[in-house]
Amino acid sequence: MTQDTHQKVTSLHLRRNAYLYIRQSTLRQVFENTESTKRQYGLRQRAMALGWPEERIIVIDKDLGQSGASADREGFQRLVTEVSLGRAGIVLGLEVSRLARNNTDWHRLLEICALTDTLILDEDGIYDPAHFNDRLLLGLKGTMSEAELHVLRARLQGGIRNKARRGELVIKPPIGFVYNSEGVLVLDPDKQVQQALRLLFDTFRRTGSASATVKLFRQQGLLFPRRVASGPQKGERVWGALGHCQVLRILHNPRYTGAFVFGRHHIRRTVDGHCRVVAVPQQQWQMLIPAAHSGYLSWEDYQQNQQRLRENAQAIGSDRRRSPAREGPALLQGLILCGRCGQRMTVRYHVRQARLCPDYVCQREGIEHAQPVCQHVPGSGIDEAIGALLIDAVSPVALEVALNVQQELQSRLEEADRLRLRQVERAQYEADLARRRYMHVDPGNRLVAESLEAEWNSKLRAVAEAQQEHKRQRQQDRQALSDEQRAAILALAADFPRLWRDPNTLDRERKRMTRLLLEDVTVFRADMIVLQIRFKGGAARTLSLPIPPNAWQQRVTNPEVVRDIDRLLADHTDGQIAAVLNERGIRSGEGKRFSRTIVARIRRDYRLTPRYDRLRAAGMLTVQEMATALRVTPDCVKIWNRHGLLHGHPYNDKNECLYQASADNLPQKVQGHKLSERGLAKEITSVSAKEVQCEA
Ligand SMILES: [Zn+2]
Repeated sequence: MTQDTHQKVTSLHLRRNAYLYIRQSTLRQVFENTESTKRQYGLRQRAMALGWPEERIIVIDKDLGQSGASADREGFQRLVTEVSLGRAGIVLGLEVSRLARNNTDWHRLLEICALTDTLILDEDGIYDPAHFNDRLLLGLKGTMSEAELHVLRARLQGGIRNKARRGELVIKPPIGFVYNSEGVLVLDPDKQVQQALRLLFDTFRRTGSASATVKLFRQQGLLFPRRVASGPQKGERVWGALGHCQVLRILHNPRYTGAFVFGRHHIRRTVDGHCRVVAVPQQQWQMLIPAAHSGYLSWEDYQQNQQRLRENAQAIGSDRRRSPAREGPALLQGLILCGRCGQRMTVRYHVRQARLCPDYVCQREGIEHAQPVCQHVPGSGIDEAIGALLIDAVSPVALEVALNVQQELQSRLEEADRLRLRQVERAQYEADLARRRYMHVDPGNRLVAESLEAEWNSKLRAVAEAQQEHKRQRQQDRQALSDEQRAAILALAADFPRLWRDPNTLDRERKRMTRLLLEDVTVFRADMIVLQIRFKGGAARTLSLPIPPNAWQQRVTNPEVVRDIDRLLADHTDGQIAAVLNERGIRSGEGKRFSRTIVARIRRDYRLTPRYDRLRAAGMLTVQEMATALRVTPDCVKIWNRHGLLHGHPYNDKNECLYQASADNLPQKVQGHKLSERGLAKEITSVSAKEVQCEA
């Protein structure tokens, strides 16, 4: 190869640029392996020796510090672009086969180099990928470097696995653990760290909720330790507010039981070249050594916590992000956005009258930092309004309008078609004119005849072109809807409301239909619930809905009824009021018939003045007072009242009364005969004696 080096480089190559591609996989290599970087830059001298002027040697070192396995290496992509545009005469690299991320990339680069006649140079020599031998060699180099990478990785991984199998692998310990000087994992000697972790586990055991744990730390102003993951402070311990994610991470981590675990996560490469960390189920962990070192809780506690977290997750519902439509009836699951903070809202269900009712809640920030919920909107009303809107949007009328617009456009097209036809006619006319001119010329005048013939021909060509263009456009416009298609579309629109309302239609299907029609819905709760609805295709609508009454408000007594009760209290007892209201056909807030107790409860709840106080305020006397005034016993007053001798006002349903201290409230006998005090007393005694006899 070396002997024909100079034959491979031609003036054609020298006229183009030389590209020097430099890469060190990691930042550490960039700093420590400077020798290799120097060698890479040294290739520039080789290029100059081959005849490239210095200013035409372009160095691509954008990918320094990026591994060949990383997905977007800007520098390499630029190199490929330059090569494919034919701007590169030669590509220089230390171990060229390592240029590419993998063999596929490498072979593609070789292919492109061969097509654009670009040379490749490394420390071993110069290659022309268009030559079979060189290409074979370069291909082998690529394969070898990939194999080398594989062997290296396998050896490393094998070592790691062996160590893990013995439980000796040093893995970055979670917060609360440190390696001591003998390399044994022990609890962090800092008592504050230990206490913080113990409090976390205790709180979760007590409350069974990660949110409640975050809340407790926040309420008490407690900080929690964590290790800095990156940056200049990497590995240092800092104290900060406890977050929901952090609690979950700690609760899910089996190492807190003192177990040695390996292979809880698996890194999966995606089609776009990115990596994704996937959690592996417990049964498939590569290594689990229980009680390998001291811990904060027992294995049983850990399992219980896992169970608890699983149940919590189901209770909260995974109806969260923009996920596939689920079975729950919440129509806007995954489509609804919070108008206050812009986050996607989640769905919560509650049961009312044996039916699942959705609520839309913006709680993600709240859960993470134990803050109050951002917005909470009852969902039934919203779902109903959206359903009505969709039925409206897909109504036959709306489609009719759309089809009419389509027809209107069609008729315009016919106008355009007529204009195009006129163009054809005009071209035809000009061609006829040219033909006539040619016919009239003297055949002896050959020069003129020839030019006229040429003109006629070109006009004929123009006619053909115009005709073709007309035909093509006409066909394009011919996509009008037939009556049959029109009818089918309208029938579909008529079907939509029927399908929507059909009780047999699954909620999931309804949600799918919604997703076909709507882009998203933004909700804002103020005095009203305001919905901003975006349809697929860009149309937008705004709806305002009243806030539906909550469970308490729904059962509240009508204020009109409360006023009635207040009015009736002037002349009626609770029991009488209940009878009056029932007679009027009025029902309580809960829809029941009124009873004495219900009226009494309303009276108390609304702090209506009791009848007793009203009567007292009107100056009425108690039994005792009346007895004193009449100089009889209280029993006597009651007996007289019962027999109509006195006029008492009952203040409750046990017929206990208050009495007016007026003239007509004295027994007639007492009134008629102006008896002396003594006589009065005698009379009263005799009456009461008689009454007592009667009673007996
Ligand atoms: Zn919000």
